[in-house]
Amino acid sequence: MNRRKFLTSSICGAASVAVASSGASLFTSCAEAKKPAPELRLSFQEGTAPGKNLNEKLDYMENMGIVGFEPGGWNLANRVDEIKNALAGRNIKVSAICAGFKGFILAEDPQVKAEFDSTMRDIIAAAGEIGSTGVIMVPAFNWQSPCKPHTLETREYLCEQMHELGEYALKHNTTVILEPLNRREAHYLRLVSDAAAICRDSKSAGVKCMGDFWHMQEDTSDYAAFLSAGKEYLQHVHIASRGNRIMPGEDGELDNYVGGFRALKEMDYPYYVSFECGCKGEREQTLKAAVELIRAQWEQA
Ligand code: MG
Repeated sequence: MNRRKFLTSSICGAASVAVASSGASLFTSCAEAKKPAPELRLSFQEGTAPGKNLNEKLDYMENMGIVGFEPGGWNLANRVDEIKNALAGRNIKVSAICAGFKGFILAEDPQVKAEFDSTMRDIIAAAGEIGSTGVIMVPAFNWQSPCKPHTLETREYLCEQMHELGEYALKHNTTVILEPLNRREAHYLRLVSDAAAICRDSKSAGVKCMGDFWHMQEDTSDYAAFLSAGKEYLQHVHIASRGNRIMPGEDGELDNYVGGFRALKEMDYPYYVSFECGCKGEREQTLKAAVELIRAQWEQA
């Protein structure tokens, strides 16, 4: 018997002695001592569920037990009422906002940077109104240029800028979420642990990060990657098949998420695992199979 098991059984044993005279149930006392397994909160992006309009998509999601909705950030300020009304009375909340801003934060051109600043702030304000956990952003894609060079000064600049953005997001009851990509898409941020270190060094509780199972190709372990960010910084997760970014399960044995899920369970991850993927087969079939696969792997983890 290891120390933890011994302590648990000792606590239950002590409880049984204590409750014997009061007549309370021993089962209740032991059940209270055991921590419940964290819940898997699944989310879909707007394009994931079939349906002719937002309400049809949300009906479909509700029937599947999907509890998160991740809209894109483009035009979000004009969609606040539409989204609020569509979610009213449902067991679905906004999980995160996926980008949608213009420009980029590491732009050399001041005009492009100013465009980022104003459009990103509009999205953050709208995200707060609809109760989103945060707004996802990438510091720079490979195709975005001219971009600040990959130097120590640029990292310091990014941390300063993220601090300002994070503080702005906190005022709007939301956060900004850095998303690491893979080297084919972004040279700058490619590891969950690197994103988490930028969160830490930005010195704002409004700066968070996420992991995307599709992009996490340079993290050598999903488990270690999520734990490196931990509950303090990990605010969102994207999921897709791991070979071709289609529906989880469509790439067969490659689509193993158990290690990552184990980390999420160990850290009591309270946020969402959100579908960001295409689809090769018939959507309704692959989607149903994907949700079943993910739920089974979560149980297994
Ligand atoms: Mg993603």
